[in-house]
Amino acid sequence: MKNLAKKPQIMDLTALLQNAGEVDPVRFIEKYRTIRGKGFKIVGEGRDYLVDFYRYMCIGALKDRKPTVVVKGRQVEMTEAALNIALYYLCNYKFFTTLHSFPRDSQVSRFSTQRLQGALRDSALDSDRNPMLMNFLADHKNARNTVSGVEFKHSSYYYMYSAWGEADALRGISADLLCRDEFQDWSGSAVDSTDACLSASPYKIEFSFGTPKGTGSTFNDLWDNSDKRYYHTRCSGCNNLFIIDLDNFLYGMTIQCPRCKKEQDKRISNQTGVWVPSKESRNCLRTGFHISQLMSPMMSREEITRKQLEFSPMKFRNEVLGDFFSGSTNPLEPAKVIASCCEPYSNEDFAHQIVAPKQTFMGIDWGGRTDINDKGAYTVVTIISKDRDKYKVEFTKRITYNDYLKQVAYIKELIRMYNCISVVADIGAGAIQCQMLQTEFGDTVKSCYYSANLKSKYVYNNENWMISVDRDAWLEEVIDIIVRANIIIPWKNNKDKQWFVDQICNTRIGMSEKTGNVRRKYEKEERKMPNDALHSLNYAYIASVTELGENAVGSPTARQYGQALPTSIGSNFSGSRHNGGAGMSKGMQKLQTRFNPMPNISRDTRGR
Ligand SMILES: [Zn+2]
Repeated sequence: MKNLAKKPQIMDLTALLQNAGEVDPVRFIEKYRTIRGKGFKIVGEGRDYLVDFYRYMCIGALKDRKPTVVVKGRQVEMTEAALNIALYYLCNYKFFTTLHSFPRDSQVSRFSTQRLQGALRDSALDSDRNPMLMNFLADHKNARNTVSGVEFKHSSYYYMYSAWGEADALRGISADLLCRDEFQDWSGSAVDSTDACLSASPYKIEFSFGTPKGTGSTFNDLWDNSDKRYYHTRCSGCNNLFIIDLDNFLYGMTIQCPRCKKEQDKRISNQTGVWVPSKESRNCLRTGFHISQLMSPMMSREEITRKQLEFSPMKFRNEVLGDFFSGSTNPLEPAKVIASCCEPYSNEDFAHQIVAPKQTFMGIDWGGRTDINDKGAYTVVTIISKDRDKYKVEFTKRITYNDYLKQVAYIKELIRMYNCISVVADIGAGAIQCQMLQTEFGDTVKSCYYSANLKSKYVYNNENWMISVDRDAWLEEVIDIIVRANIIIPWKNNKDKQWFVDQICNTRIGMSEKTGNVRRKYEKEERKMPNDALHSLNYAYIASVTELGENAVGSPTARQYGQALPTSIGSNFSGSRHNGGAGMSKGMQKLQTRFNPMPNISRDTRGR
């Protein structure tokens, strides 16, 4: 149960509205917006918790003068709400600037071209059958209407920027309303870049929202500093106010009052509910709203139950309940990786070529994407070098065309340009491509087979130049290298590098009991999103170990990332090539005798 202040403090925003004589944002939105060809409904459809939220954001926040934070489950229409709030101000105020910022460039263009332009174009029609919101746009000759900015009448502007790719542009914008979307993925320096945006504004409306991840994040701090308002639905039997939770949400849309036990439809009970702060609002720096999928009129109990069964505990807590989760099973978060592995190298960029004696290692994850199947993954190539005691990503590329002959030709070119002395490529989707590369480069190129139940961590077959590896043992090491910031990801011109960080972070730790003993298994966090970059990096890491042996970066010791695991798990990964070979697998010993004593071969010319 949430800790509630003894006397609920219920804000009477309706009265505030009448006093202020303002345009009611709820009436404004319902009048002008449409959704899927129908009127946009906020009142009486079960999402009535948004009524007071909108009124707070459009009227209450001006009075309170505090930043607002919304912590929410996925798919609860909050980006749409931010758009509505922005439109309300832009259409009702003069000389008003909104800055809506996202962590990713792709999110900006998607929002701008689909959501904003769609909302304007598909707004309710006036008597001449013109979309009414279009009438609020500036109509002078030089009016601005681009992906990153739309000009409204009376010198009001809606700007949309990415907080990383366009941080410099952001610093120059003076805004009245700042919407920080997907806030859980904002890095520290991205937050800094919007810090001064509101300083010159008479309104200063700051609105940060997102779906929580682990505790201890900046987002978590914002929430902890807020008054944490939870929506209390009202029992139609006894007037009792209660929060919808997993216990009282029974089936379909039916909830049960914990006091009088009456079963009722949440869409009806939500219509008379209220927001209740769980801390004294006047003692808090921020106003906070919590929105879970349990409240949503779109979510049935059955759908919630399905997610409970299919999602990891963390994903369920984060994306359905909208709660921060302390026992994180996701070892990598983009914001943290960027802070530790990328931003310290913001003056460095990828290399255009590498010249001997410097040497590099390449990993290739072949994509299953073909002309016929456009749903598969792209081929990803990653080239790393050893830079003192760290690895450095010298180059990485998503190959977006399907023609494998063209792909192989391009990779051959990269092997030469970057002086790659060892290449490891997955054989699953690339047996033919591997052979083509081996025809030219010999055993510099090794194919790699991921195995889930291999006795040793690494087995090399000298006959066919194929490595079999214990998939999760190697992934664990490469993830550990990233967690410990032992990898340099050059961050200059980083617009084209964000995908790499997103992909390597799309990882969670699961459990496997297949071989009898429980052990960690590394899976995708978002099943629909790719993680080929992580695998190409893993192959590049394996390629480096085949050459460097004991001099490779990394530590194979098992670690738990804060999650309680059975103690037996660690023993799966106890073999270490760094501790003198006592725990070294046979495959690793074979590997070392095979590759290490080769002092007289000049690697930079081999195979060219
Ligand atoms: Zn009741």
